[in-house]
Amino acid sequence: MALSVAFFITIGILNEFRFNKSTCPHDIMSSPMRITLPYWVRIPSLLVCGVIGLTGYESRSQHEVSTLVDRVSNFEKPEPEPRAPAGRSVVAEPTEAELRADPRVRAFVHVYDSLIDSVSYQKDDLVFFIKASAIHFEDGRMLSSARLDRREQCDPVFYIYPLEFPEEPIAPPEEPIRHCTDVQEALWGRSESQIREHASSSTFLGRRVFLNDLAIQALVDVEREIRALATVELKVAEWIDELDIAYSLIDRGIAGTPRRSQHAWGLAVDLVPRSYDGQQVYWRWTRAWNGRGWHQIPMEQRWSPPASVVRAFESHGFLWGGKWAHFDNIHFEYRPELLEYNKLILTED
Ligand SMILES: [Zn+2]
Repeated sequence: MALSVAFFITIGILNEFRFNKSTCPHDIMSSPMRITLPYWVRIPSLLVCGVIGLTGYESRSQHEVSTLVDRVSNFEKPEPEPRAPAGRSVVAEPTEAELRADPRVRAFVHVYDSLIDSVSYQKDDLVFFIKASAIHFEDGRMLSSARLDRREQCDPVFYIYPLEFPEEPIAPPEEPIRHCTDVQEALWGRSESQIREHASSSTFLGRRVFLNDLAIQALVDVEREIRALATVELKVAEWIDELDIAYSLIDRGIAGTPRRSQHAWGLAVDLVPRSYDGQQVYWRWTRAWNGRGWHQIPMEQRWSPPASVVRAFESHGFLWGGKWAHFDNIHFEYRPELLEYNKLILTED
């Protein structure tokens, strides 16, 4: 009798280990044992399994209770959630102090202080009043009041411009960058006649240029610096000798885009040499020959003005298109706010 009981208990325990506790009774009845074991073996084993199974149910119940306790305690101590006024994003909006401390705002105000009538904080954003326009900061997008609905079509106008010379080619962004030009329109007008009111004619290294007045003033300093460099640096003297044409104010768009180029505001000048010595100079031309690998063209295979010439331009507010991923090595653009922004973020890091 004792042997029989031990046998039943062993069968029951084996069943228990073979099948999941919570489903043990069901699995025993549907297991292959149902066929191989007679009822007088299966029924006692089912009883043993049931006892152990109940223990399992008990422990599961305990788990459910502790889960419930956790839920209750979580309910009593809810996670703090950011609260926002109805209809607004739950992302915390920057305060006026935070916006004024933003290096993009500081750079913009530093450069155009005399042209900005006032700055106010409206609807969680900074608004710059420039002549007849209100330019909203919009996280660096700089959008006019009338065209705030284009936020999705305009990328921030402040971007990383390397102050050092990149040793390796820069990979182009996956998506094309779209800069809207509301600020240029506010500062210098939209129509060619308005833009020409803020521009004047001058010469640069003996070539006639017609540019925005601020750019002309800056070019006077650039030329003085470059001529001084030419007396001590042969490469600079050769670059001046080789200079052929200077393209300045011309009402044109950025090739391949519906947007106006900085040339349209007289804020860019292309300094074209007589020869590129067989080197690469403009990404579109390189792409036409090299296809997809155009941006991997090594820096030493690209035609460049002397580095000291580029630095002279940069020190007076012009950035050089040779430092862009979409390189344009004859292009200089008057963007003092961008250079100021990049200096600020470099010194603050
Ligand atoms: Zn250009």
